[in-house]
Amino acid sequence: MDTITALIAGEKVASGGAPIAIIDPATDTLVAELPEADDATVDRAVLAARRAFDDGSWRFMPVEARQAVLRRCAELIEASADTLADIECTNTGLPLAQIRGRSVLRAADNFRFFADYIGQATGRLYEQHPDYLTMVRREPVGVAALISPWNSPIALGSMKVASAIAFGNSCVLKPSEQAPLGISKLVELLGEAGLPEGVVNLVNGRGATTGDRLIRHPEVDLVSFTGGTPTGRVIMRTAGELLKPAEVELGGKSANIIFDDADFEAALDGALLGIFTNNGQQCLAGSRILVQRGIADRFIEAFVERARRIKVGDPRDPATVIGPMVSQRHMQHVLSFVPGSAAEGELLTGGCRAGDTGAYVEPTLVRAADRDARLFQEEIFGPFAALMVFDTDDEAYALANHSRFGLVSYVWSQSLQRIMTAQERIQAGTVWCNTPMMRELRAPFGGWKESGIGGDGGLECEAFYTRAKTVSIPRRPLQLRKLGA
Ligand code: NAD
Repeated sequence: MDTITALIAGEKVASGGAPIAIIDPATDTLVAELPEADDATVDRAVLAARRAFDDGSWRFMPVEARQAVLRRCAELIEASADTLADIECTNTGLPLAQIRGRSVLRAADNFRFFADYIGQATGRLYEQHPDYLTMVRREPVGVAALISPWNSPIALGSMKVASAIAFGNSCVLKPSEQAPLGISKLVELLGEAGLPEGVVNLVNGRGATTGDRLIRHPEVDLVSFTGGTPTGRVIMRTAGELLKPAEVELGGKSANIIFDDADFEAALDGALLGIFTNNGQQCLAGSRILVQRGIADRFIEAFVERARRIKVGDPRDPATVIGPMVSQRHMQHVLSFVPGSAAEGELLTGGCRAGDTGAYVEPTLVRAADRDARLFQEEIFGPFAALMVFDTDDEAYALANHSRFGLVSYVWSQSLQRIMTAQERIQAGTVWCNTPMMRELRAPFGGWKESGIGGDGGLECEAFYTRAKTVSIPRRPLQLRKLGA
């Protein structure tokens, strides 16, 4: 059985903490143990990152050389794609085909994207003042604490590492204690890419212990967090108290608006993909389906029929669409939203555990009793969609915006005018029009309202992972006042 350690300056470091069990949620079997990184281990990791930053071997490396290292990271990930996908599947229960075809490739893309980006980054120059040139340069901030969730560890963890180091920072990543296996392997692989020692370090452990120690460490300069909204509040409080820049990418309960003039089949396909991809455990899930009355009966019937045919089961089976939830505990959380009475909603399909072993949940659709129903407001984070029917466009926007979250939204209509109005009226960081889940790495991806502050994207990451320095230089000899002369 594997023991999941810390990785500090290229070395595996085992802490003495009580081991946390890592379970394969498809079979309920123990697959690894994780002794938690204690104070001394966190300290060692942060100091390794500090040394790597201060010695300048990474941040002052010529940009072409830094780009080559980042591209090498992408190649190493691709070369080990099968292994990474296999490990991630064992730890998370996500379907192997989805990990292999999406998350691992995305991890490689993340490194390539930032390699390309830094080759084009520019500063600013002001020359309006007759006597001075003033330039604004951007410098890396220092040591970044990166905290990532369990729902797509390789894709999300790699995004944090790639964006932090591309701009010259060094980092310490703490992945989720529930799903550390795949991302720990990925960080290990990066050791062969030519990164100077200590630029990328990893500690493993729980959030309130290892994670908290990490962000509080005095040598940590900035904090990037992806995870749940309640944790995001804690992180912002801690970072605020210590005056460390922080960005938090949090939960969602995203509206999927289907107007009566939508391309029906495309909207149906999109709605199914939007809620059932990644076992439904994705921040950007289209988990609130809003459908216009004229097509509602037909849509519900078709959605239910298709949902019942979706294969739930062994995540290694290529035909599987939905594997197990990440843990038994999370499965219970998802099932706790199944309505117990008509006052909460009407169960249209699913709503049960599938099988006796493994944390499997049937694809579920519930018609919410009203817009304040718990299942229409809270993030369930599983293959569970809540549906409401609307009459007018204004009603659709009111329902969509009646949420404390604002991560993404989806809108389906063949009328350009309706799409243009919708994208203006919806309160969310991203609006996908007539498409599910189109992730453009150049563009910002971050939530509004309680879905977060800050986010990913080319310019956004540059703004977060670098800080501005204003430098003024006289154009000619200055006639300074001679004080005391
Ligand atoms: P979580 O908040 O429970 O944990 C996320 C990470 O934070 C873990 O590594 C955890 O150990 C750590 N953590 C917990 N408490 C901490 C503390 N006090 N100090 C420091 N670190 C701490 O979230 P999760 O259950 O792992 O992930 C699911 C959530 O993540 C969902 O809400 C989902 O919507 C969200 N998410 C958001 C995005 C996005 O881009 N907005 C992407 C993926 C997931």
